[in-house]
Amino acid sequence: MDQQPLNMDHHWLPFTNNKLFHAEPQLFAKASGVRYWTPEGREILDGASGLFCCAAGHGRREIAEAVHAQLLELDYSPHFQRAAPISFELAERLSGILPKGLDRVFFGSSGSEAVDTAMKICLAYHRAKGEAQRTRFVSRAWGYHGVNLGGTSLAGMVGNRREFSSVTCDVVHMRHTWSDEQRFTRGQPDDGAWLADDLEELCKTYGGETIAAVFVEPIAGSIGTIVPPKGYLQRLRAIADKHGILLVFDEVITGFGRTGAAFASQEFGVTPDVLTMAKALTNGAIPMSAVAVKTEIQQAVIDSIKADRPELMHGYTYSAHPVACAAALASLNIYRDDGLFARGQAMSDAFLDAVFSLRNLAQVHDLRGYGMISGIQLTPGKTPGEKGSLVQRLLFKEGLHVKATGDALIFAPALVTTEDEIGAMTDILRKVLGRGE
Ligand code: PLP
Repeated sequence: MDQQPLNMDHHWLPFTNNKLFHAEPQLFAKASGVRYWTPEGREILDGASGLFCCAAGHGRREIAEAVHAQLLELDYSPHFQRAAPISFELAERLSGILPKGLDRVFFGSSGSEAVDTAMKICLAYHRAKGEAQRTRFVSRAWGYHGVNLGGTSLAGMVGNRREFSSVTCDVVHMRHTWSDEQRFTRGQPDDGAWLADDLEELCKTYGGETIAAVFVEPIAGSIGTIVPPKGYLQRLRAIADKHGILLVFDEVITGFGRTGAAFASQEFGVTPDVLTMAKALTNGAIPMSAVAVKTEIQQAVIDSIKADRPELMHGYTYSAHPVACAAALASLNIYRDDGLFARGQAMSDAFLDAVFSLRNLAQVHDLRGYGMISGIQLTPGKTPGEKGSLVQRLLFKEGLHVKATGDALIFAPALVTTEDEIGAMTDILRKVLGRGE
């Protein structure tokens, strides 16, 4: 029987040029390991772990079975005034791998929800401590913190905020940490810790006592992998402490072994007060996110409310969804049993060797990378973003999926990728990026 052509009129695709997509659809119909297949059966190597979610590769049977069993056991339970045992189990497991001291966990369904939740927790904490005037946030140019209104306010990528300025809240920005002199730096740049002094400057301008929290991605992922200069995060920590400002690490991409350790906080030796995570929390299988906070932050909020009412007037219908909890526990088991974070760390050298072998190609302006995440900055095209979009489509035609943001590609394969698979992915990059204009 002939298959009906797919009607694509009704699904409005996110972060997509829908007209271009309809003209040139890029569809995934099946996935296993580090491979996707199109509906026609063409193989596409996954050079982006989906969207930095599938750290353990696609189609993990352990997760599928845990989800199936949980759906039959307890498919849904509300978490307002009720709870399911599995969410406490997950929170305890997470606190075992989180940076020491961060052991209270609030669940949501997406990275964007985690970010907005973290903002509200910061405000609630300061109010509980008698500092309700701390209502301003600091973030960084080129930062990405999801697309809800809090995260849009924190955004440092102009395209993501320009059209929504009427609904954004009070956020001031530090400079990003990339400079042209640091092109082709592998790992952390030596110079640039001083850029953290932007926080000190903002405290002078606005009053440190008005600032609730500073949000940064330890490695700025979505913009194209900007690795923090040596000492930068430490300096940010010291300035935040000096002014009583909470330090929030958005680890939605960097969590779960992407940098080598469980979290980038541990890899870079800086403990934030609040940490957001999502994506690889469930290996991408079921939407889920979490915000981890220091014990004393939750304690302060809980202790500040004497009446019989929720201490934090915040939560989602799908907070701690039992099926998502089951997927997360199964993912954490894989990470532990397969020693996946150590595997990613061990693979990093071969991965970065492969990335940096692209250095002299016609379309490459800069290369950056750390652990199992890298950024390939393309030489600029006629208008910003045009080249990135074109190259991403060419790579798809040649059999490789990577993420493109503006004119940067983000190449971050699963932690289970073999050296041969990294080689095959890099060969496709070499073929496409080596072409002239
Ligand atoms: N924060 C960071 C650092 C991210 O990279 C992302 C997504 O890429 C988000 C937040 C938003 O996550 P989600 O798309 O799940 O809402």
